[in-house]
Amino acid sequence: MRKCYIVSFVVILCSAITFAKTFQWSEWKNSLEPQGIRGKDVLLAESKQARYKIVIPEKASPIEIKASADLSQWLGDITGASFVVVPDSYQSVEREISVGATNRVPEGYPSEDLKTHGYQIFQKGDKIFVLGGTKRGLLNGVYALLEEDLGCRWYDSEDAKMIPKISTLKFKPASRVSVPQLQVRDPFYYSSFEPTWALRNRTTYTNGDRNRFGVIPAEYGGGMRYPDPMFVHTYNFLLPPKKYFESNPEYFMMDDTGKRIDKQLCETNPEVARIVTRAVLEILEKSPETQLFSVSKNDISLACSCPNCKQLNQEEGSNSASMLTLVNYVANAVKDKYPNLTITTLAYLDTIKVPRTIRPASNVGIRVCNDMVSWVNPLKPARKVPEYVDIVTQWSGVSKKLYAWDYTVNYSHQIAPFPNMEVIADNVRFFVSNNAQGYMSQATYESPCAGREQMRCWVIGKLLWDPQRDVNELMQDFVWGYYGAAAPAVIEYYEILRERAHAVGEDFGNTIRYEMDCLLFPSEFVKDASRIFENAMQLAENKEIRRRVEREFISVMYVELEQGPEVMGAQHYISTLEKFKEITRRENLDYFREASKNRETLIEKWTNRI
Ligand SMILES: [Zn+2]
Repeated sequence: MRKCYIVSFVVILCSAITFAKTFQWSEWKNSLEPQGIRGKDVLLAESKQARYKIVIPEKASPIEIKASADLSQWLGDITGASFVVVPDSYQSVEREISVGATNRVPEGYPSEDLKTHGYQIFQKGDKIFVLGGTKRGLLNGVYALLEEDLGCRWYDSEDAKMIPKISTLKFKPASRVSVPQLQVRDPFYYSSFEPTWALRNRTTYTNGDRNRFGVIPAEYGGGMRYPDPMFVHTYNFLLPPKKYFESNPEYFMMDDTGKRIDKQLCETNPEVARIVTRAVLEILEKSPETQLFSVSKNDISLACSCPNCKQLNQEEGSNSASMLTLVNYVANAVKDKYPNLTITTLAYLDTIKVPRTIRPASNVGIRVCNDMVSWVNPLKPARKVPEYVDIVTQWSGVSKKLYAWDYTVNYSHQIAPFPNMEVIADNVRFFVSNNAQGYMSQATYESPCAGREQMRCWVIGKLLWDPQRDVNELMQDFVWGYYGAAAPAVIEYYEILRERAHAVGEDFGNTIRYEMDCLLFPSEFVKDASRIFENAMQLAENKEIRRRVEREFISVMYVELEQGPEVMGAQHYISTLEKFKEITRRENLDYFREASKNRETLIEKWTNRI
């Protein structure tokens, strides 16, 4: 009897959960609350007077100087107090925050291997210690303390920060070790290429305009950026057809008719391997600190049909066999001189499958591309994508350096609303459970043109550090912190987007390039979202928040403009077009389609529809 009672209770509870809203917070909360054991209360400042000193080694490294200066600056911003940084040659006092390898660090610490990016925060007596791994670890530790324990936020790359203002600052530090599994944590949105934002948010971008953004200095732990233009599809750069095709057509692929064409390389030709290696070494001479270098096929699904390549690929059951033959040769040739370098290549299109016997060399990284599955449905074995799930699992079995390449925006309509945050979170967890060392979500990289771009950068960054975080809580943290008084309206918009994704579910099919009249966006969607937008603009308390709201709702305007004046009426359509022009020009939103700077073309098309 009692058992039945419990069962009915569970059923009622489950249905309540099913119908409850996902975004339930009614105010900002700290979604990054640290999980470690809380120590005793620490009084950092009292009535704008610092009660702690920051201590660094007398012969501090650049990253120890940077980490302590940043900590001092932000603690000062929070409290209005002045936190001095002193060398460890000063006499030790009780209340110190020790940053880096000072002589205050007790025997046996760090208590675990922090590797390159990990950190440890702990408390001994009244002292607090922050330790870091060999590269960016220490900065990661300081920013973890500021974000997770003290609630600071650096939400976007335009300095939309949230720093609590507390003149008497007391907190209980959570002692913990945090070492991320993912070495490459790359949201890959335009906004995520900004080095200061990346440092504060612990991401590691791999590409982005070097002239526009600069790079993370090596003395702060450096980045994981590929040298230009060695990011991907590099065969043409390493062995240019312009230079070689006429004199040596045998360096290039043979097509099915026996003719040599310059679309891909003949990967089993030993001379090709030697030329490619030489080209790689030349680039490395100029940037010896490089950690990632791509030797990968041009972006077209073709392979060489010469007798050698063809036989090898047939025996091995995948065109990845001839590709790995070339890539392994290069990797072996550079290994001794560049022990920290990984040569990456692609499991993509015709090379997506693992060859039967050939294995990647130990310094070869496999970027496995998620381009063959649905972007509404997460990568879970029970869903519609078992083949891809098997492929990732097989690569994971033969490579210790797996880097996930996910696809997270609609490349035909990059600004389109895309309710795939839960799918992204599931995918990150899937790749991590398959021992991935990196994750990159290919997004909008040419201008800040993705729907909800700033939120996506921040939330994905947090998931890549700790994939177990709750994606919906992270989204709420962002919205309540970023949109101020307009947050309830933005939350309502997020909720209807999410409901649409769940409503279409697996009927949505396997496409990422959906049109604006697809199942996701019935006319009620535009009506509801436009109403919410008007409300959000009313709620926004200042110009900057109104600007953020406008940027968010460009996506909805885009859907309306693509759907035509029939949905909301001509008058609304005309005013939406005017707003779209004003906002997108002001914000320099240019690329509404991948590789196409098409804002003005779109405006012209929509104007003609009136
Ligand atoms: Zn060949």
